[in-house]
Amino acid sequence: MQAMVSKYMRMLQGVLTTTQAIDNSIQRNKEVYNFLCLLNYGGMFYVLFITSVVMLTSYFVTIPFYYTIASEAPESLWQGRLLALYFYINIVLNYILILYGGVQSIYCSRNDLPMFDVSTHEDWTKCDRCDRFVPPRTRHCSICDRCILKRDHHCFFTGCCVGFYNQRYFIMYNLHGALSCFAALCYLKSYLGSHYVELFSEEFFKYTLPYALVAWILGYVAFQIFLMVILFYLILMTGIMCAYFVIWQGNLMISGQTSYEFVKGNKYYQSNISEHLRSVFGRYWALNILFPMPQFKQENDGTTWSSSSTKFL
Ligand SMILES: [Zn+2]
Ligand SMILES: [Zn+2]
Repeated sequence: MQAMVSKYMRMLQGVLTTTQAIDNSIQRNKEVYNFLCLLNYGGMFYVLFITSVVMLTSYFVTIPFYYTIASEAPESLWQGRLLALYFYINIVLNYILILYGGVQSIYCSRNDLPMFDVSTHEDWTKCDRCDRFVPPRTRHCSICDRCILKRDHHCFFTGCCVGFYNQRYFIMYNLHGALSCFAALCYLKSYLGSHYVELFSEEFFKYTLPYALVAWILGYVAFQIFLMVILFYLILMTGIMCAYFVIWQGNLMISGQTSYEFVKGNKYYQSNISEHLRSVFGRYWALNILFPMPQFKQENDGTTWSSSSTKFL
């Protein structure tokens, strides 16, 4: 078990180091910058596309099939649809709040007037790109071209940075994303099991994309079923990605680090797990799991961090 955990940590560190290397290369290469800007729009389009398609397909096709046609407790149809709506509303609200919190997390940009006299705080450092002194844990994002409070990483699926004011929504967005993908997969598995083939059977190979494509071209499989097989993979991939983000962020939250600090092996801002959770989610942190709670703000303002004491200021 311990070996598995350390293997996972090494893998995570490898992924984050690569992200860091990409981030550094942006400053030197304009083409990389343009490509990543394009990736921003692609990521946002993907989120919009997959969220709408999964919601509409589940609500109007697979959930009614599961509860009415497949005769799995027909009276529970409204429960299935309510669950889908709950996930959908949570995902949309958290997404909007990620964007809003992304703007709030901006500390300064290169267009701001230089302020050299704020170095009264000895732990502040100068951002050469913005030409300003910035609080600890604030880092410059080469894609946003701004300094972000407690910057964790740049998220291509939202087109903004994840930092002090939106990390909580990012985590909850991914948690609900992973859970909704799991539920959508269960309904879709039942639908395809009846209209195509059972996933866990001797004919599981029919779920491979090349087979489904050839079967559709030769007319053995309806186009609608072929699309459902593609959707199956898209949901699976999205669900795994969301689950990965939850584990990654959960790990950082427990250790009280940002991705950058994790890669560098820095652990300056130590405290207990409860303090770490409140620093990310604010008071009553557990309520955020049910619904986004922007009214319960964090106790810190993201500019002042205690490095050695056991409490965030
Ligand atoms: Zn900067
Ligand atoms: Zn950014």
